[in-house]
Amino acid sequence: MTDHQSQGQSKPHVAIIGAGIVGICSAAFLQREGYRVTLIDAEDPGTMTSFGNAGAISPHSVTPMALPGIWKNVPRWLLDPLGPLAVRMDYAAKATPWLIKFMAAAKSYEAQAAALASLHRPVREAYLELTGDAGASHLLKQTGSLSVYETEAGFQGDVLMRELSRRHGHTVEELTGDELRQLEPALGPQFVRATYFPDSTHCINPGDLCQRLVAMVFAAGGEHIRAKVTGFETGADGVTALRTDDGQRHAFDHFVVSAGAWSHRLSAQLGEPFPLESERGYHMVLPHPGFETSRPISFGERKFMCTMMEPGLRLAGTVEFAGLEADPNWGRADKLLDHARQIFRTVDVGDAKPWMGQRPSTPDSMPVIGRSKKHANVAYAFGHGHLGLTGGAITGQHITSVIAGREPAIDLSPFSIDRFSR
Ligand SMILES: Cc1cc2nc3c(=O)[nH]c(=O)nc-3n(C[C@H](O)[C@H](O)[C@H](O)COP(=O)(O)OP(=O)(O)OC[C@H]3O[C@@H](n4cnc5c(N)ncnc54)[C@H](O)[C@@H]3O)c2cc1C
Repeated sequence: MTDHQSQGQSKPHVAIIGAGIVGICSAAFLQREGYRVTLIDAEDPGTMTSFGNAGAISPHSVTPMALPGIWKNVPRWLLDPLGPLAVRMDYAAKATPWLIKFMAAAKSYEAQAAALASLHRPVREAYLELTGDAGASHLLKQTGSLSVYETEAGFQGDVLMRELSRRHGHTVEELTGDELRQLEPALGPQFVRATYFPDSTHCINPGDLCQRLVAMVFAAGGEHIRAKVTGFETGADGVTALRTDDGQRHAFDHFVVSAGAWSHRLSAQLGEPFPLESERGYHMVLPHPGFETSRPISFGERKFMCTMMEPGLRLAGTVEFAGLEADPNWGRADKLLDHARQIFRTVDVGDAKPWMGQRPSTPDSMPVIGRSKKHANVAYAFGHGHLGLTGGAITGQHITSVIAGREPAIDLSPFSIDRFSR
């Protein structure tokens, strides 16, 4: 057994289970307050979902995925395996309980938007507290973001999204097709409307952002145990130790569960089950598309994004419910290339590189951030779904407040672990 507990001799030692962007940022902020931190992950830090996202850091994204009337789409989701949102037939029965909660959550979309707005308001500022010291400032660009539409009906279909962003204080500009093409000349002539969100930031290399942040954590004494957490031991005062798949036992003072789409397996072991699903997403990187775009562009009808990144133009998105273990359906990534051929005036899709990742998704589109209800020295930081890059740094700040026993800067009760079991 390895004892990482402070036993009153030095700063408390925190185990951070899962080294994606959420765990890495939690480690970085905890370290700044004097905590000793150890990341525990069988993979290299920042190489899972946090590696391949579309890079958008979007304070204006406050609209939950489930809105009233969403249930009408269910037949389409089941019938088109390459559609923007698909449920694999052989996974449909397993996904059903989550999907029912997802559709039921739609009625509370206003409260969810208010909670997401309070969480997301300072997301850029939270990153800026870390990126300077990590040598990562050049990876963040503030050129806004766009949602673009090929039909007036598609534009009108997102009126609620624009309304909620405005209501929560964000600038939302409505553009004509010509105004859009002045901003992004590579787009084809079929786009008739667009929405511009000027306060959006984006990251031009999410994998490198993770690497630079984690290098900063290690340089300041943080450690990495390369193993998978398989269980916990508890005592009178909470969790005392965790067990790993190499047969080791490690004792710590505090524990943060930030294992992305796998987190519910750990919370269940701690007596706190949570309805988490993987919304699998895909990307394709085009190393030499033949043009550059200036900001993330979200395609309203086609439901995917493109962002110009250091390795090339990244086409990213789509949602697939197939569980954590199923092989990727690379046809879904190929479909992104079909879209690219249709939306840009000309595009070179040669040498495209595919990737699949697991979004950690909750039925109400809100992450779980806060203290365990059962173990005083455990905090949860998972379930950021489509917005985990956006929420990574700010979550790290709130988790640090929770562990330090301070009042967090916002009301964290909407993000509680027990909100589906009360
Ligand atoms: C195609 C796509 C596009 C996206 N675009 C955006 C975007 O533009 N903007 C945005 O904000 N978000 C976006 N996202 C979402 C975002 O990428 C995720 O929400 C975010 O990466 C989740 O981070 P995480 O740290 O929670 O999880 P991860 O990065 O998945 O990290 C979790 C870590 O936990 C580890 N782990 C799991 N189980 C255990 C265990 N038992 N023991 C130890 N370690 C364990 C894993 O190995 C992994 O390293 C996108 C996602 C996808 C798929």
